[in-house]
Amino acid sequence: MTAPFRNFIAGEWVAPTEAVPNVNPSNLTDVVGEYARGGAADVDAAVAAAKAAFPAWSRTVPYARHEILKKVAAEIFARKDELGRLLSREEGKTLAEGIGEVTRAGQIFEFFAAETVRLAGETLPSVRPGVGVEVTREPLGIVGMITPWNFPIAIPAWKIAPALAYGNCIVFKPAELVPGSAHALAEIIVRAGVPAGVFNLVMGKGSTVGQRLLDHPDITAITFTGSVSTGRKVAAAAISGEVMKKVQLEMGGKNPLVVLDDADLPIAVETAVNGAFFSTGQRCTASSRIIVTEGIHDRFVDAVKGRLAQLTVDDALKAGTHIGPVVDESQLDQDMRYIEIGRAEGATLAYGGERLNRESEGFYLSPALFTEATPEMRISREEIFGPVAAVIRVKDYEEALAVSNDTPFGLSSGICTTSLKHATHFKRNADAGMVMVNLPTAGVDFHVPFGGRKGSSYGPREQGSYAREFFTQVKTAYTLA
Ligand code: NAD
Repeated sequence: MTAPFRNFIAGEWVAPTEAVPNVNPSNLTDVVGEYARGGAADVDAAVAAAKAAFPAWSRTVPYARHEILKKVAAEIFARKDELGRLLSREEGKTLAEGIGEVTRAGQIFEFFAAETVRLAGETLPSVRPGVGVEVTREPLGIVGMITPWNFPIAIPAWKIAPALAYGNCIVFKPAELVPGSAHALAEIIVRAGVPAGVFNLVMGKGSTVGQRLLDHPDITAITFTGSVSTGRKVAAAAISGEVMKKVQLEMGGKNPLVVLDDADLPIAVETAVNGAFFSTGQRCTASSRIIVTEGIHDRFVDAVKGRLAQLTVDDALKAGTHIGPVVDESQLDQDMRYIEIGRAEGATLAYGGERLNRESEGFYLSPALFTEATPEMRISREEIFGPVAAVIRVKDYEEALAVSNDTPFGLSSGICTTSLKHATHFKRNADAGMVMVNLPTAGVDFHVPFGGRKGSSYGPREQGSYAREFFTQVKTAYTLA
């Protein structure tokens, strides 16, 4: 057995007392590696190092941080195929998706390398004579980062890059299922020359490492992406100390895709299949409710079923695979449970929803399409987080809009239509943080805000220049001239 991959704390790779295997969901006999499982003491050591590093790091000239982020981007781009392979091997999305995600991580570091030198403030006249006012932005201090398994490199990148760009120190806890991509990213960041203590990686469980990040009094802010139930605990714990932490939560979705009678059918089918089933449906922005008006309903459902029949579910690393396995056994159990719930509620399982056997033993599931679902059913209301989508038949646009907004979530909403009137009205009235017209609900740019409303998000947006709203704090200074 090779030595376990280590945590990075206070400028050192630290040998773990405990390590856990990282298993390939496409092939359960393939162990990607043994990875450290840290604990609360590791968080304490990382925070102490970050605290010591913060004064100097927060005062570095932005160009020094620019150079580091640029180096990180360059290495990610240069190694995108190898890193994409590692990502697909541990998470189960296809190789093309894995390489695409790694490329995205490089683009994010490149973007924030440029942002370092763009952080501007304001100078204003005071309402009082002889006084000047300056509004500036300063780093927060130590940011705790807690990330999910479904985007193992892009989500860490869109938290780490702005945190470093604006002069913060970091303690990063990746999801237990995907430590490989996190560790590879950490190695790249360390090689790029981040000073000791500025960036710390502590792999481990949410209940220990994650919890200690929430409880530690010297952590100033928590950025979290994951499920609503964990997010709720994160928010409560983060404000329970003497000094309340700044909190940013990105959570689940139950994203609607509306298909109107006047939609371009091939575009609507590709949009629905991509949004619902690519990345095995394991995207917070996946289209899990497909709301279709009567006039196109039957043609649309037939065409979607035809398209699904052309897709190959197999080993994520195999050429020709369109949909990889589900990430692990408990997620597969959850998907199967919801397929049973949908049946019991009276929806029709029109396609898929079966466990599949492939050459290697893995968590394979055929994409499941329910029809005749109603908005009240649990499969229409609760996040399943797998390759399971429900088609809801509606009368017209007005009903489609009402059903699409009838959800506790509000991350991404889509519409397929050729009507300018309906597209414009939907963009204005969809109760979601992101709206897509003739595009899948999943799939976003890196230079514009990302995030949702209602139960999907809490706190400032991520990504693009908006990231500064979370990763900096504003100071207002008054001077008598
Ligand atoms: P999860 O909530 O189970 O875990 C997320 C992270 O929280 C993990 O690192 C986990 O270890 C940690 N954690 C768990 N318990 C904790 C605790 N008590 N204290 C501190 N940390 C704790 O989510 P998951 O299963 O990893 O990811 C899937 C979820 O993430 C889905 O709901 C999905 O919609 C959501 N997601 C949202 C976005 C977004 O940007 N809105 C993006 C991707 C995924």
